[in-house]
Amino acid sequence: MAGLLASNGYKIVNTEDEADLVVLNSCTVKNPSEDHFRNAINSAKDKNKFVVVAGCVSQATPNVGYLKNLSILGVQQIDRVVEVVEETLKGNRVRLLGKKKVNRRKAGGASLNLPKIRRNPLIEIIPISTGCLNQCTYCKTKHARGDLGSYPIGEIVNRAVEAFKEGCKEIWLTSEDTGAYGKDIDCSLPQLLYALINVIPDGCYLRLGMTNPPYIKDYLEDIGKILSHHRVYSFLHIPVQSGSDQVLSDMRREYFRRDFEDIVDYLRQRVPGITIATDIICGFPTETAADFEETLQLVAKYRFPILFINQFYPRPGTVAAKMERIPAHQPALRYYVVKKTLPDARNVAWLTLILLLVTNCVIVVKVKCGLSCINFTSPREKEAALSCCYISRETNQLFPIL
Ligand code: SF4
Repeated sequence: MAGLLASNGYKIVNTEDEADLVVLNSCTVKNPSEDHFRNAINSAKDKNKFVVVAGCVSQATPNVGYLKNLSILGVQQIDRVVEVVEETLKGNRVRLLGKKKVNRRKAGGASLNLPKIRRNPLIEIIPISTGCLNQCTYCKTKHARGDLGSYPIGEIVNRAVEAFKEGCKEIWLTSEDTGAYGKDIDCSLPQLLYALINVIPDGCYLRLGMTNPPYIKDYLEDIGKILSHHRVYSFLHIPVQSGSDQVLSDMRREYFRRDFEDIVDYLRQRVPGITIATDIICGFPTETAADFEETLQLVAKYRFPILFINQFYPRPGTVAAKMERIPAHQPALRYYVVKKTLPDARNVAWLTLILLLVTNCVIVVKVKCGLSCINFTSPREKEAALSCCYISRETNQLFPIL
């Protein structure tokens, strides 16, 4: 959105105070993110700014009280941000919430070739699809994103080629569920990944985003080969959410614990040095003490180097929000019980980050692993590690390691 606005003559500023109009994007996964979004709207209104809202919260619940009278840009309509901003600045309220279609089938969304302003100029983030094939009972994102809509392989590959020409060093593929990619357009994730590997130049990398277990398990042999490729990060984020089959069934996750374990075991055997990240939800309404114990056992068995722990939040309108809840303090309590089991991230054995101090720069040598639990001393240092760069101490600029 920022890229489109900038290329149409709008000046993108860094603070709300400098702006005439504020565009606020939103995430609907957890209650705290929505609270943050609501506070940001109130803050902009208090300062008499024009406001345009976008993202999953406003797509899923456009008629909620605090969004009344605001312009809304739907998740598949970001290519129309300029129109919406222009109309809003004239004092009009515009709401574009429709879905994009190609040959009467849901499309991935706006073109991937829109002008961009990258937060990190070395990383191109490409959404390969929107929506998913599941109906998880706790999930509000599904209300916003709907069913799966994949971008064609050719469009994604072209985007990657252009990004490398523009100087990007990494391509990060994102989606609600990368494993489901292509099932709506008669192609598959391995087909896409092999096509991308063919266009990755020397010294550049691909990173695959989150996949749920049900679909990726159909392609394990290919995924093992792809994650072993020297231009692909040996990293995969596979959210398990619970170690209990009963809870997984109540969440309608469409896999058993055994499926998840088979995937992790296979990839750990076949992909040297692979880092597998996972998520768990603590305190799902039907989670008994015995179910929670099964989750603890799973965490202890695999000692995931990256573990995202979430408390259960009842998102309005979801099936799980209507379920009878366990005592209110339990999700937080269980969250801390899991957290206490984690090793200190700085002591994790797989951590092979080497910081070399030389005369006027910090060199960050990156190895093929996930890096999000490393304690960097500055955001710039983390950016350097993720981008395989060194930082000039004089100018704080990043330079690629050749
Ligand atoms: S896979 Fe489940 S949690 Fe993920 S977006 Fe789809 S319904 Fe939501």
